[in-house]
Amino acid sequence: MRAAARAEAFFQDIVARNAGEPEFHQAVSCLFESLVLLLERAPHYADAALIQRLCEPERQVIFRVPWQDDLGAIHVNRGFRVQFNSVLGPYKGGLRFHPRVNLGIVKFLGFEQLFKNALTGLPLGGGKGGADFDPKGKSDAEVMRFCQSFMTELYRHIGPDVDVPAGDVGVGVREIGYMFGQHKRLTNSYASGAITGKGLSWGGSRVRKEATGYGLAYFVSEMLDARDLAFDGCKVIVSGAGNVALHTIEKVHQMGGTVIACSDSSGYIVDEQGIDLEALRTLKEARRRSIHEYATLVPSARYRADGSVWDVPCDIALPCATQNELDETAARTLVKNGVRIVAEGANMPTTPEARRYFRSAGIPFAPGKAANAGGVVTSALEMQQNASRDSWSFEDTDERLATLMRNIHERCIGTAEEYGRPGDYVLGANIAAFKKVADAMIALGII
Ligand code: GLU
Repeated sequence: MRAAARAEAFFQDIVARNAGEPEFHQAVSCLFESLVLLLERAPHYADAALIQRLCEPERQVIFRVPWQDDLGAIHVNRGFRVQFNSVLGPYKGGLRFHPRVNLGIVKFLGFEQLFKNALTGLPLGGGKGGADFDPKGKSDAEVMRFCQSFMTELYRHIGPDVDVPAGDVGVGVREIGYMFGQHKRLTNSYASGAITGKGLSWGGSRVRKEATGYGLAYFVSEMLDARDLAFDGCKVIVSGAGNVALHTIEKVHQMGGTVIACSDSSGYIVDEQGIDLEALRTLKEARRRSIHEYATLVPSARYRADGSVWDVPCDIALPCATQNELDETAARTLVKNGVRIVAEGANMPTTPEARRYFRSAGIPFAPGKAANAGGVVTSALEMQQNASRDSWSFEDTDERLATLMRNIHERCIGTAEEYGRPGDYVLGANIAAFKKVADAMIALGII
């Protein structure tokens, strides 16, 4: 059978046995599009059910999370941990708390994480977890009780050499603190390496909080550099207004670009003067308020509740909000308005149609598994510091992050070149990451 037909047959099988999980199918299909080229040259990767084994998580844990709100009412949420693959190291990946979390979403995130982690070149397996819990509007005490209940089950499945969760959407240092505290009580050990994204005084790493956003900016700076361009004078759009978006804006400004728009679930703001980061931070981090209040704080800004942030003309577009936020219509608008580079800060924020459109229009496009790897890279640096009971300076950690992002960029570019598609970051990332995991799977036998 020809490589394309084989890949299609594998894909149909995966769709059939993972019914009702469209995001997972989408993540698998994106990888398979690139694999066709690899299978033409190296058909042995399709032997021994290797691809089927790679698409089946090693373990999936689903559990009840009961908790009590401040008024005494009892709620039940559903917790997940999908341990996708541990051939390269302990499972590693964040926890997402969001009302729309379900098994298919956790599986897509775990699948992406596996290849993202492989691409870093660090000894990390892949996994992901979370719950359909909405931290929005909850008191600290409610969040604490939820996190404690969540960890009361999760602690059995994790550990520094087993599985190391971290944050993701809806899980920041507050949630990590409550979960780490409960883990410490239940295991009667100060297992720092069992979770990353910790606070600085209790085993965390400098730069971890900033890492995904900074890493994205470093990656884009490599993309620009490869084309003899720079951030100077570039107008940038960063969608979202969470941790990734805030630190992307910060680093892009430091590197000479101007972020002129960002968004949240209520709409978006445009500020041609450049987003005032301190105002945005106060609003989102300190007060946890909606973005429309930004326009009342900063007179040069306008707020829009309708339309899309991608309608705003820019040179660089960085989707940092959530999956499938940038569709083909948005891609067409961006290209028409002269966008020159697109890179994903969130996980799979671009639909397959939009991704293909960027490729056909010749726009350099970096997938999240390469461009947003800075978070997990710095989690690995946190694990190294925990293992050696050390604490590195901000400069040292930041320097390592920048170097590791540069290496990821080189790996993508080099592999894309090798496979005859220069500049195709999606193909480069997918093939480089797949080969790393697949070669280890072959070496470790039928597992
Ligand atoms: N949730 C982040 C990601 O999507 C970070 C994971 C981690 O640090 O383990 O890569």
